[in-house]
Amino acid sequence: MTFAATVLTLYPEMFPGPLGVSLAGRALEEQRWTLDTLQIRDFAADKHRTVDDTPAGGGAGMVLRVDVLAACIDHARALHPRCPVLAMTPRGKPLNQARVRELSAGSGVTILCGRFEGFDERIVEGRGIEEVSIGDVVLSGGEPAALMLLDACIRLLPGVMGAPSSGAEESFEQGLLEYPHFTRPVEWEGRTIPEVLRSGDHAKITAWRKQQAEDDTRLRRPDFWERRSGARVQSASGARQKKGNQDT
Ligand code: SAH
Repeated sequence: MTFAATVLTLYPEMFPGPLGVSLAGRALEEQRWTLDTLQIRDFAADKHRTVDDTPAGGGAGMVLRVDVLAACIDHARALHPRCPVLAMTPRGKPLNQARVRELSAGSGVTILCGRFEGFDERIVEGRGIEEVSIGDVVLSGGEPAALMLLDACIRLLPGVMGAPSSGAEESFEQGLLEYPHFTRPVEWEGRTIPEVLRSGDHAKITAWRKQQAEDDTRLRRPDFWERRSGARVQSASGARQKKGNQDT
């Protein structure tokens, strides 16, 4: 099945952009995924092709009009009825690897990219769309966020990554950061590759990597570590997970 990416944007020329090269670019040529862009402006109803207006209640900037967005989303849904529609916004649920995995296992994704101050809020409920944030930063538009989300999905599609196992050990897949990597030269500016990695003892190497992954996660991402330990304690005691505490 080909993964269908549809991007709703005022700047279709930004696509495929970086997704036209390397792994994602090759996968696009091989039709492991497809890309459609819809110009939001094409769905404006007036002769000036207006897509935005001033914020109700006043304030700086412009807001994307709900009627124009709805027409564009309806068109995209007709093209790909089985693809979820995601709106990129810093107000959305932070994207994580678990959601990326779900999306990449599906038939594709339709992504609405905001500009200016963002969208008229009524579009979210009115069209049942999922709001997604790529992190606690503010971008000037949803396009780089869409590129990021698509990149994360595409690399997981069957046949895109070289070794099929290389995805499974990576950061976040086990609720842990990945262990650190090294390669030749063995010595560089007085720093050497950890002895154990040169020992050839695979059991020791596996144990070392597990330890590093755990230590680094505890230090760098205490939020992950707590969630992981919490999940382990709960499953060990057979306790049922509390409602509203099921975030991944
Ligand atoms: N006024 C908005 C920010 C608008 S930025 C606010 O303060 O919440 C313009 C557009 O960039 C947004 O509509 C969104 O599509 C995109 N964008 C900005 N930051 C983003 C983020 N962290 N995640 C996803 N999209 C983002």
